Amino acid sequence: MGRYNYERRPSLRVAVGNTAIGGTEPIRVQSMTNTPTLDTEASVAQACRIAEAGADLVRLTAQGVQHARNLGNIRRELRARGVETPLVADIHFNATAAFAAAEEVEKVRINPGNFVDPGRTFKKLSYTEEEYAAEIEKIREKLVPFLELCREHGTAIRLGVNHGSLSDRIMSRYGDTPAGMVESVMEYLRICREVGFNDIVISIKASNVVVMTETVRLLAATMKDEGMNYPLHLGVTEAGDGEDGRVKSAVGIGSLLADGLGDTIRVSLSEAPEAELPVARELVAHISRIASAPEITGAVDRCPHKYGERRMSEAVGAIGGDNVPAVEGVDFRGDELGEGIIVVSSDHDNRIGDIRAQIDAIEPEDKRPVVIRLRYPETMSAEETSLAAATDFGALLLEGYRDGIWLETPSLTEEEARSLAMTILQATRTRITKTEFIACPGCGRTLFDLQSVLAKIKAACSHLTGLKIGVMGCIVNGPGEMADADYGYVGAAAGNVSLYKGKECVMKNIPADEALPRLIELIKANGDWKDA
Ligand code: SF4
Repeated sequence: MGRYNYERRPSLRVAVGNTAIGGTEPIRVQSMTNTPTLDTEASVAQACRIAEAGADLVRLTAQGVQHARNLGNIRRELRARGVETPLVADIHFNATAAFAAAEEVEKVRINPGNFVDPGRTFKKLSYTEEEYAAEIEKIREKLVPFLELCREHGTAIRLGVNHGSLSDRIMSRYGDTPAGMVESVMEYLRICREVGFNDIVISIKASNVVVMTETVRLLAATMKDEGMNYPLHLGVTEAGDGEDGRVKSAVGIGSLLADGLGDTIRVSLSEAPEAELPVARELVAHISRIASAPEITGAVDRCPHKYGERRMSEAVGAIGGDNVPAVEGVDFRGDELGEGIIVVSSDHDNRIGDIRAQIDAIEPEDKRPVVIRLRYPETMSAEETSLAAATDFGALLLEGYRDGIWLETPSLTEEEARSLAMTILQATRTRITKTEFIACPGCGRTLFDLQSVLAKIKAACSHLTGLKIGVMGCIVNGPGEMADADYGYVGAAAGNVSLYKGKECVMKNIPADEALPRLIELIKANGDWKDA
């Protein structure tokens, strides 16, 4: 695959109600309601707003059979109001609800980590070959009838794996790794293929952008090796809100889309679901600009799932070598760089390809640091520029070009441009300068007002540079999905919160109004607090 010229990965076209994902279809955008699924009126109203904001699909959680059945009422009411957008049921830990949902909506998401397996219990840490094979057989026994039901009703499925929700069985053999997440999907895909069921979309998500992008690339390569080309749904889970959430999503989703991977996307923000759609649409628009840009020649064949190793250079002051990526306006001034530093610049629509071509043209023995300077015109708004820069710089940083970045745009003030550059570096985990909040977007399971709680926790903890704090709406998926957070604030029951230190629940069911001071106490007790 030529990597400088845009080339979309070929995928199967999967029909989902009146739309389709994959093949030559446009990249579809979607979001998810956060209303209780049993509240038909509220869910219908929010689904209407999501559809009006441009979503091609709307997902709703269905934690039980009753919820799954109510999706039928929601769907009928939407159709009665003239909204034809296909609905997707989101299922965890309840295969019976998946069977019910398959009769009610156009697509059902199941999580291979908990469709049959009970999720991670840490109780069984090793499996013999026979035990492992017996577990796969159990999956087959439940999955095949589910696929037959979906076939009967014309229902598509999404196999959606999340970092942190792998089964004990997968963990025993692969650990919590990209290879484990990929195998978790592949086990299901092989069974689907055996029975000739192909209406499948795949997602593998993580809140850690580096893990997410690496795993999706590995999945695409593994599917290719096994002769499969199911469409890919991309997303960064628990991305949070505001600029941090948008930048994280753009780095993760945008950098994969720019390499031709991805057929549908969901930007997960801890905000109103409608707010996700303009971001998703702009990411797709940016990729369209890359795809339709004039060719950049000099393409070489590079395996799309492999990152380049960091391009090693010899440091010049604070730039290059083992230094963290330097930022123009913070660590150096662009107009003062001498000949000891190579500056590669681009304002081409395909900036990623243009920069790759320029860096590949540098002689291997030339060890001068390379500063990447990307320029965006005043015709792009601040929001468009931020998402484009996060995608472009993010792709190049993840690929190993990490000496320095220089963002030039009239659409942002110098201060805004510096802040954006730092946020991009944080998202790629190449330079940590602030607290990372791993906050879920909320859904019908959410047990507290996510947006206001997140705002309060951010106000109290934003100065704790380097800490990762999870803020998760429910106990069902929250603890697993906050993955590598140092501390966690998790909705435990209505009005109650549980606090986590790493993966361990250390304070259970404390009243919500005491939870933030107790979280601060917990951070202090572990020596991780510092005064602002
Ligand atoms: S962690 Fe958040 S988004 Fe995920 S299921 Fe729970 S409430 Fe919903």
